[in-house]
Amino acid sequence: MGVGSVTLVGGGPGDPDLLTIAAARALASADVVLYDRLAPRDALAELAPHAELIDVGKRPGHHPIGQGEIERLLVEHALRGAAVVRLKGGDPFVFGRGSEEADACHRAGVPVRVIPGVTSAIAVPAAAGIPVTHREVSRLFTVVSGHAPLERSELEHLAGLGGTIVVLMGVSNLPSISAGLLRAGMAPETPVAVVERGYSAGQRTTFAELAQIREAADRAGVRSPAVIVIGEVVHRARLGDAGAEAVLVDAVSRPGGGA
Ligand code: SAH
Repeated sequence: MGVGSVTLVGGGPGDPDLLTIAAARALASADVVLYDRLAPRDALAELAPHAELIDVGKRPGHHPIGQGEIERLLVEHALRGAAVVRLKGGDPFVFGRGSEEADACHRAGVPVRVIPGVTSAIAVPAAAGIPVTHREVSRLFTVVSGHAPLERSELEHLAGLGGTIVVLMGVSNLPSISAGLLRAGMAPETPVAVVERGYSAGQRTTFAELAQIREAADRAGVRSPAVIVIGEVVHRARLGDAGAEAVLVDAVSRPGGGA
């Protein structure tokens, strides 16, 4: 048997309806699927009926299967002739280590293809009624990883940009990110939204001004996965998501509510 292939597939933000047609086709003809925690995993048995399904999901702080081991598995299955799909949450090239996996395949002589996905950086704010750009409100958006604390110079640049800031993997560093942006001169009343578990039944949005977001997130018990949106576009949510509106009203009506 000849060499198989690896297809890096963006699975979108969790709802199987947000897979691309190319993603669904790749899954339908896969022999092996290695999938992540944030990939649309519930529908996999139906979408990839002939495939062996391997869960390589990582939870924050836990690493059941390391990155090196994932790369080794991709290459090993492809070299024995399998059509391998590597299904990732969102887009494979947005904080997804997709290009590292592509490198590993190239090094091993395994053909690799990439199918882009709907990234949570844009889609999860949208689920809460927040557009990342809006005419005359924001003409740029920056997507930043909050996984590691941001450097002072990064915070200063971000604070000076004047558009929308979208933070992924930012829940645990939210206190230092919000404090850092305030120190760097961002207006304390800049609106912030934290959108948890986008596209699931448990989707929830917490709103506050930048100066109060740390406290509001604490009070709400905000947890990963969540997308943090910072900037004037957050006000647009009031026109959209009914659930988000209810949370906002709730936060405002509580004693000491900071939203
Ligand atoms: N490649 C992915 C991002 C991987 S980093 C993409 O393009 O979407 C993982 C982070 O994405 C999480 O910590 C969270 O910030 C965000 N995320 C992904 N899916 C999400 C969802 N359904 N709801 C909220 N946040 C999500």
